[in-house]
Amino acid sequence: MFNKKTIEDIDLDSKRVLVRVDFNVPLEDGRVADDTRIRAALPTIKYLVDHRAIVILCSHLGRPKGQVKAELSLRPVAEHLSELLGVPIAFADDCVGDPAEDAVRDLQPGQIVLLENTRFHAGEKANDPEFARALASLAEVYVNDAFGSAHRAHASTEGVARYLPAVAGYLMEKEIRYLGDALLDPEHPFVAIMGGAKISDKIDVVKRMLQIADHLLVGGGLANTFLAARGFDLAESLVEEDALPTAREILQTATDRLVLPVDLVVADEFSDDASVRSVPVDDVPAGWRALDIGGKTVDLFKEKLQGAKLIVWNGPMGVFEMGPFAVGTYAIAQAVAETDAVSIIGGGDSAAAIRKAGLTDKISHVSTGGGASLEFMEGKTLPGVAALLDKDS
Ligand code: ADP
Ligand code: MG
Repeated sequence: MFNKKTIEDIDLDSKRVLVRVDFNVPLEDGRVADDTRIRAALPTIKYLVDHRAIVILCSHLGRPKGQVKAELSLRPVAEHLSELLGVPIAFADDCVGDPAEDAVRDLQPGQIVLLENTRFHAGEKANDPEFARALASLAEVYVNDAFGSAHRAHASTEGVARYLPAVAGYLMEKEIRYLGDALLDPEHPFVAIMGGAKISDKIDVVKRMLQIADHLLVGGGLANTFLAARGFDLAESLVEEDALPTAREILQTATDRLVLPVDLVVADEFSDDASVRSVPVDDVPAGWRALDIGGKTVDLFKEKLQGAKLIVWNGPMGVFEMGPFAVGTYAIAQAVAETDAVSIIGGGDSAAAIRKAGLTDKISHVSTGGGASLEFMEGKTLPGVAALLDKDS
């Protein structure tokens, strides 16, 4: 249950408000290539502006490893945000010290500054108290709207909350309400769909879903490892040998709720101009690899989705980045979009696949968090969420 204070529970008028957003966006030629995450933060930013807060935005971008890297500057994001909001956005060349303090001092209530990449300081990832205190000293209130970074206890996601009253923004609230409430008390029939590359990343989510879902449909590389554990020869397919014992264990305890592919799309090389065939799971030719679920599997999965009230999906059904192996993922995406179920997509690549399929609007909630949504689905407490004030405090 979502029981954290939000921006609606705190006085913002003329207050300096430090807002951790997730502006870790792809840049191309010094411009924002995909602004999904920036748009996702707009409701919170607009609310703060409307309530006359002095808005101080901060975020990480990429992996500069504690050093200043010009190509990982957030300056292009400030320009993009300015275009989206139609107001000027100030920019501070450093997220702490004189540049940040000067920029904040120049702001009137309702105005906005974006601070430079927090990861230009090693203290960010180290959650160094001195760095966290320096960041916190800019403000009187802290808002965390960076769900995508909430699984990390870094200075700007967790450390600053020790020095300032800390509340959730709208995006944080929405993510936790959807993912959290859906999984805490799921509506049934509840169908979970899982795929993607590596089972080792997702084993705990698989286990949890098998406990709470009526069906768990497994595709992608994940399914290969389960099929191998069941004794099928997957030839050159991506199979995680190390995960086979765990996969076998799961297969032993899982009932028919665990639904594996019955056929696979296989290719003679890992390339979008490979020769491609659809084969039953017990007939993968030597030298070939499974890169998508087959048509019979799509039909089987669709059948299981019938009448679902809740669908949670993490991980593509195949190598959707390549046209010939995107068919299964798009077919399942279409099927999910057509149901009346509450549908939730978690995972960076899964969200990208839904966007590429043009179906984002037909899904109840597409999470902006990759790692964070996975850890949340595992049932873990996210440090960035734990650090926020409880509703009744
Ligand atoms: P998400 O980011 O949604 O959690 P993952 O990162 O776990 O998803 O997995 C996405 C990746 O899995 C994609 O890059 C996709 O190409 C890859 N993938 C899916 N199916 C297969 C497969 N059968 N063999 C190899 N890679 C696969
Ligand atoms: Mg991924």
